[in-house]
Amino acid sequence: MIEGYPEIARDVSTLKQAPNLSDWAALRESWSWDDAWAELDLPDGLVNMAHECVDRHAENVNADKVAILWNGADNQVETYTYAQFKAQTNKVANALKTLGVEKGERVFVLSDRIPELYFSCFGALKAGAIMAPLFSAFGPEPIKERVARAEGSVIITTPKLLPKVNAIRSELPSIRHVIVIAHREGKPVAEGDIDYQSIVGSASEEFEIERTGPEDWSVMHFTSGTTGLPKGAAHVHNAIVSHYATGKYALDLQPDDIYWCTADPGWVTGTSYGMFAPFSNGVTALIDEGGFSARRWYELIQKHGVTVWYTAPTAIRLLMKAGESLPAQFDLSTLRFISSVGEPLNPEAVVWGNRAFDQPIHDNWWQTETGSIMCANYAAMPVRPGSMGRPFPGVHVSVVDDEGNEIAEPMVEGALVVRPPWPSMFRTYWNDQERYDSRFKGGWYYSGDRAKRDEDGYIWFVGRDDDVINTAGHLVSPFEVESVLIEHEAVAEAGVIGRPDDVAMEVVKAFVTLNEGYTETPDLMRALNRHCRERLGSTVAPREIVVIDILPKTRSGKIMRRLLKARELGLPEGDISTLEED
Ligand code: ATP
Ligand code: MG
Repeated sequence: MIEGYPEIARDVSTLKQAPNLSDWAALRESWSWDDAWAELDLPDGLVNMAHECVDRHAENVNADKVAILWNGADNQVETYTYAQFKAQTNKVANALKTLGVEKGERVFVLSDRIPELYFSCFGALKAGAIMAPLFSAFGPEPIKERVARAEGSVIITTPKLLPKVNAIRSELPSIRHVIVIAHREGKPVAEGDIDYQSIVGSASEEFEIERTGPEDWSVMHFTSGTTGLPKGAAHVHNAIVSHYATGKYALDLQPDDIYWCTADPGWVTGTSYGMFAPFSNGVTALIDEGGFSARRWYELIQKHGVTVWYTAPTAIRLLMKAGESLPAQFDLSTLRFISSVGEPLNPEAVVWGNRAFDQPIHDNWWQTETGSIMCANYAAMPVRPGSMGRPFPGVHVSVVDDEGNEIAEPMVEGALVVRPPWPSMFRTYWNDQERYDSRFKGGWYYSGDRAKRDEDGYIWFVGRDDDVINTAGHLVSPFEVESVLIEHEAVAEAGVIGRPDDVAMEVVKAFVTLNEGYTETPDLMRALNRHCRERLGSTVAPREIVVIDILPKTRSGKIMRRLLKARELGLPEGDISTLEED
């Protein structure tokens, strides 16, 4: 816990609609996954994520409601109702079947965020395939590595990205078909490739979804690669009940929402919460093809009247860097709920959000492996800045000691664990069952993160197993040090590592980037050091602070501390397939 950040209790009685979750303890007490399933649809006892997300709505009152509100990179807008979404995904499913794609085959999608990306993913699910989205910014090697590991049989891509596939195609014998979404770019399709439009355009709008059961494979998602080689976490159709329920209670999705998840589907947040949670809840999802710019993002919220916004700490820190006067120039009054995931959300960011948007930013925690939100700050619950909130009802999240016993005492650090199973739990790391098995021990799933729990059950992130620093017998959370560093007006972002030391075992070393208008001067560095010592004490305060131009981050925006450390020590950089390069 970082001192000096009082609880923020929002008066939700002033909101037009009451939050779906009004009393966390009561819902936790009465929780039943069967009740959540009862709000979905299980035709013949079968479950298919595409049925729950698309067809179910196309067949009810939502048929003419906009499902996809697409904002292109050049700001043109296209909309697709749930009925149109059903037709488009049926066409893709028919096309895949014509190509002989069978249940359980891996269909990769490598595309910018265009509507066809969404049609392809859900079409693949309808065909019973395992859909696996990739970051469009990946180079040939990361694409090859992932497709090879999963033995993918189809890649759906665009002309712009095709050269990357062609560069490695001869090394991927499992690939039978490359489908190219060429019509948007107006490019001809080379011989040997399949034109999306020619097979999807002419396909029937009717399709009978492949008979998939709750335990049939649905999605394969590669982890972010923050700590090492990305792992291919495989999920089953059963996960949809978690996406639905967390969308409803953790993100507070309500029927009239215009919901915007800023994550790319190359990162699990862009599928679980860019696709499955909003569509299973039947809301309108804004999909932005463009990239980050603070001004553009505020414009989008204003233009489309976004009500619920799900983003990441790295984006929030960049918004902070762009200044507080910028959001004031836009009408952001439609925003009702803001939340964040992916990295610890610095308390300063929560407080900043409360000033800039007149509401706190709600942090929540989960992983590719957990498939859905495991612990969250809910709309009706006071926010404790720096905390990830409380466990999702129906999920048992805990903090355990080295023996695997739950720690009852408040604010004692231990391993952050989840009691298996839960509906969206991953079912394997593809082709790496041994690693999968190693994550389960003594009746717990070990997340690989460390945390503390306070007397009211709020969970506080400490760090990843590999990142926690041991200095002179003290365990130091890099997140706490980073959070204190960014409190300083000159600091935009910070990454903190333990540098090996003969005497102290490790010493704390910080890398920071500066806000515009600040340059590295001896005075500034003295001030920064003083601020850290005052806030953290001399044992925990960084021994060394270094200013750098950019922090190495994953494509999902996570600070890669292992890379800072490898570079510091002159060691090999390891897997950098997910490193953001610009
Ligand atoms: P890899 O497993 O390949 O190293 P990764 O763990 O970053 O990459 P993801 O599954 O995208 O891959 O991220 C999950 C991790 O992100 C969590 O285990 C945690 O370390 C971090 N994380 C996610 N949300 C939060 C949060 N709200 N607060 C703190 N950390 C978070
Ligand atoms: Mg991980």
